[in-house]
Amino acid sequence: MHIRSVFLGLLVATSSLISPAQAVEQTVVVLKAAHLFDALSGTLMEPGMVVVAGEKIQALGRELTIPAGAQVIDLGDATLMPGFIDAHVHMAGEMSNNWYGDWFNGMMRFPAEQALYGAHYASVTLLSGVTTVRDLGSADFISLGMRNAIRAGMIPGPRMLVANYPIGATGGHGDSNPIPPERTVATGVIQGVCNGADSCRAAVRSQIKYGADVIKLMPSGGVLSLTDPVDTPELTQEEINAIVSEAHAWNRKAAAHCHGDKAAKMAIAAGVDSIEHGSFLQDDTLLEMKKKHIYLVPTLSAGDTVGLMADKLPPAIGVKATAASQQMQKMFQRAIKLGVPVAMGTDAGVGHHGTNAYEFVLMTRNGYTPAQALISGTANGADLLGIAAQTGTLQVGKYADIVAVPGNVLSDISATQRPVLVMKEGHIYLGGK
Ligand SMILES: [Zn+2]
Repeated sequence: MHIRSVFLGLLVATSSLISPAQAVEQTVVVLKAAHLFDALSGTLMEPGMVVVAGEKIQALGRELTIPAGAQVIDLGDATLMPGFIDAHVHMAGEMSNNWYGDWFNGMMRFPAEQALYGAHYASVTLLSGVTTVRDLGSADFISLGMRNAIRAGMIPGPRMLVANYPIGATGGHGDSNPIPPERTVATGVIQGVCNGADSCRAAVRSQIKYGADVIKLMPSGGVLSLTDPVDTPELTQEEINAIVSEAHAWNRKAAAHCHGDKAAKMAIAAGVDSIEHGSFLQDDTLLEMKKKHIYLVPTLSAGDTVGLMADKLPPAIGVKATAASQQMQKMFQRAIKLGVPVAMGTDAGVGHHGTNAYEFVLMTRNGYTPAQALISGTANGADLLGIAAQTGTLQVGKYADIVAVPGNVLSDISATQRPVLVMKEGHIYLGGK
């Protein structure tokens, strides 16, 4: 009995670790560039040098003594910065502009086949400079499997924190499959579908049982689902309270998908850690988020993508896509004026994987300075994900999660879309030759 409980304790402890299982050799690499972005102050150090020993940052400054035997990579006129953190992706899949075709493929592909697509998406995401993602929903346990395979060094990809199935109501945004019941498999708590507080607690526990790092809940309707209005609450206050308190009891953060304002107010009252999308949020709701330090993950990229493809979507979804995309950027503009904390998130999978840095461009078009946009996608992301002690800023002792982009990033934010070097945990995946 004692051995069993020790074993179970170990399982719980290891399930939330983010370090890779594979040891990295203690090679020393020195990165030099004309600029280095400090995500704490939002300013540039010029020039900048980083000494990487094994998987960690050993030293950092303008001029450092180069350790004997170190490999020196001089990037010239480039900016070194922390690897990007995308707080909202769905890395196991990707939509096209053929909604019906995607539906068919989703039904027909074997989970193993879909996981291989996922491995490709993980690779292109990492090569775009994203070294950490929070994956907020996937089916068939694919994202959990991808996380484990990346951690084991089997495939290249960003560090993943995974929600597994999102938690929502029957007929809600996580359960919008209107196929008649005799032709499909009934969904239940394992697939995150719950009704009533006890059932919702069981749904949370099921995700954690299989290794979820974070809990995603669906208090409001969504855009890309057939059966639900986008701005209407789909869970009761009692259900939302049960989901959030159960997540927190297991030391998991709770991320609430909310387009609608009423659902967001309910989620905030329950103590969620972030509001995802937030399309129709009102000023009093945004101020409450600021007061309680609840992050907004605005997913402007997804709003942009679905707005552009609205006429290709089924009519019921196209109407919602237009409404949400029109409001999202306006809401973001008000939120940043009010000082709501923001973590960058793209909802990649709705748009193409590997285009994550376009979110920085959209943020600056809507009122953020380049430095503010970069902080949201580095230091703030790490804070929201609960991994600020390990990554999110370039600091001695943290993981060497480093991206370099051409020129001075504060004068051209679009440079984030053209990385020249990507390093994760001291290992170089792009550039460096
Ligand atoms: Zn999403």
